[in-house]
Amino acid sequence: FRGRGRLSDGPRLGVMATDGAPSTTSAAVGNEVELAAAGRTTQGVPPSDTYLKESGHWIADFAEYADMYRRSVREPERFWTELAAREFVWHPSAAPTVGDALQANFDVRHGRIEVQWFRNARTNICYNAVDRHVHAGRGDQVAFHYEANDVDDARAHRAITYAQLLEMVRRMAQVLRDAGVQRGEPVAIYMPMVPELPAAMLACARIGAVHSVVFGGFSAESLAGRIADAQCRVVITCDGVMRGSKLVLLKQVADEAIALCESRQPGFRVHTQLVLRRVPERLPHVTMMPGRDRDLHQAMAAVDLSAAAAPATATTNGAEAVATDGPLLAADVEWVHAEEPLFILYTSGSTGKPKGVLHTVGGYMVGAASTFKYAFNVRPDDVYFCTADCGWITGHSYGVYGPMLNGATQVLFEGVPTWPDAGRLWAIVDKYRVTHLYTAPTAIRALKKAGDAFVKRYSRRSLKLLATVGEPINPQVWGWYHQVVGDGRCNVVDTYWQTETGAHMIVSPPVRGFQQKPGSAGVPFFGVQLAVLDASGREIPFQPGVESEGLLCIRAPWPSCIRSIYGDHERMESVYFKPFPGYYLTGDGCRRDGEGYFWLTGRVDDVINVSGHRMGTAEVESALLRHPAVAEAAVVGMPHEIKGEGICCFVTLNDGYDGSGALRDELVQMCRREIGPIASPDRVQWAAGLPKTRSGKIMRRILRKLAEQGKHLDVASLGDLSTLADPSVVDALVRDYVEE
Ligand code: ATP
Ligand code: MG
Repeated sequence: FRGRGRLSDGPRLGVMATDGAPSTTSAAVGNEVELAAAGRTTQGVPPSDTYLKESGHWIADFAEYADMYRRSVREPERFWTELAAREFVWHPSAAPTVGDALQANFDVRHGRIEVQWFRNARTNICYNAVDRHVHAGRGDQVAFHYEANDVDDARAHRAITYAQLLEMVRRMAQVLRDAGVQRGEPVAIYMPMVPELPAAMLACARIGAVHSVVFGGFSAESLAGRIADAQCRVVITCDGVMRGSKLVLLKQVADEAIALCESRQPGFRVHTQLVLRRVPERLPHVTMMPGRDRDLHQAMAAVDLSAAAAPATATTNGAEAVATDGPLLAADVEWVHAEEPLFILYTSGSTGKPKGVLHTVGGYMVGAASTFKYAFNVRPDDVYFCTADCGWITGHSYGVYGPMLNGATQVLFEGVPTWPDAGRLWAIVDKYRVTHLYTAPTAIRALKKAGDAFVKRYSRRSLKLLATVGEPINPQVWGWYHQVVGDGRCNVVDTYWQTETGAHMIVSPPVRGFQQKPGSAGVPFFGVQLAVLDASGREIPFQPGVESEGLLCIRAPWPSCIRSIYGDHERMESVYFKPFPGYYLTGDGCRRDGEGYFWLTGRVDDVINVSGHRMGTAEVESALLRHPAVAEAAVVGMPHEIKGEGICCFVTLNDGYDGSGALRDELVQMCRREIGPIASPDRVQWAAGLPKTRSGKIMRRILRKLAEQGKHLDVASLGDLSTLADPSVVDALVRDYVEE
């Protein structure tokens, strides 16, 4: 399918299937048959006895999981409404009902793409994430253990209870109200990982405003683009922060970004900037623009909370909720409709210009909370640690909303995993007795490269579950996570999803009777109907024992599905829905094995076609990673006279190895042996570093251009590079590139 244009070309792929969606009249719905097959496998790694004994379980076993899945796809309206009514607080006069649960058009042939869940119901996600726990008597439970960047920053490290967080959020919400922020209005948040960041998100949600969090490592230009895209007139930022050993001047970047926006769009003005003083001792003189900039803490301290509250009642499932949720629905909470916008978040930009993905309140709440609950099995006495920054979707769904909606205790980490040394995460694990860790393959690879000694220095005895997201986890890296970090006794959970999906789509359920297959993301979460499409857009039905490979699509709307690309609904339709009418196109390739497990093979844009054989990048990269010398690998296609496309590998070596001709031959042999002669690399380039997004994902499109153009690489042809973490990596790659 490559010849017909890449995914990012959008509409050019619209020539594909017109007869997509299969009938659902057959006996099984969604992926029921796949789940049944997965339940019978004996090929994987079962959960250890220690894990099963030590951790809490919401469901008994995989048979129950499969049963819940069956209900979720056969009667999605009933399944999700019951769950929504049971697990959340809704406004007394507007609880969700089955008859009114879903209005959607998922097929471009029938008009505008639209997904609405519980549209007549009203709720508030902040109330559900914070107030509810306090009213239920859990106010003293720690919401966040805040671990500052510097180990010895005694003033910063602290525990924040749900009750304390509630007060913080209420004050911040009032500051936003006083600044004139309206329901539905976007607010830009550009902050480091400090407690005020989740609090700011929750404060927006509390008053019905829309947050747009921009990762605190982005440049002024990138921030300006995001402020302008959503026309944010209020910005919340921070004077600066230490990231590792580096002082990052956020306020200065934010000032610059605002100036850029205002100079480019006459009449546009950011009227309020709230500034957290995080490092006053390092930055005693921060210029505050009179009339626009306000000290956040001072503004919060000046709020009179007693003026805000007045009693009201909430409901769960239509009944008065006085007993379960306390008597008070704080009057400073805005009870918004489920389909009102909650946030805008820009995708990581691995494949091109980031898209401002829009999520709405009700469906997102249900999706984030239910996936967190069932994929992670976190209990009130557990300590959960998600290493993702709130600037990414993982930080939204599994660093703020998912855990807090479930009343979890979390670690909020301001620093980086490799500072002061590569043992930091494990030191944090021991310090707070972390039970659940959620991180990304890129971090695991970096820590693996640093050597096992850093891990072994700490006990890590509290750990029960290790989860991962962001890229395919190569079996070798999975093995290290499981064996070295988890001492073989923890359950490893892979989770596949996207900014656009809002919550997990594929998970490896950590339950009795489900076996993990290292490298496979697992099976669909409740309500998710996955489809594997062939190059012509026809769905490949699952047959037990038969493996299939193709484009991963989703056939029906799930609660936390993308609602729009902010300000450009048409772009959402053309990127995700037009290529294959009737389906949401993920843009990722996948293999489904004969036992119904899903294996992500890489981005469709990156698929390599060698003499007519299509190959996912993940497959070849996993083969390379089996070699002890290899720390990281990225594989791309390159023009080849005979084969059409050849395989070009960029390889970062572990310390102590040098790139030699002999090693190159060994790597080539490794691929031939692991995959087959067809996967024989045509070129191996040693790379000191790989180009990555700021969220740590490999940007293969850059390497593809490099393999195509070599030393003559035209940097201008690379497109949007603003999401690149370290632009100097590209220069080094060009410099070190060896023409063959
Ligand atoms: P952009 O869409 O702007 O190119 P992006 O796709 O990197 O950026 P995200 O939404 O942060 O932005 O990432 C989602 C993508 O990450 C998925 O489409 C997939 O390619 C990859 N991914 C996430 N989790 C997994 C996983 N567990 N296994 C394999 N791939 C994953
Ligand atoms: Mg994407």
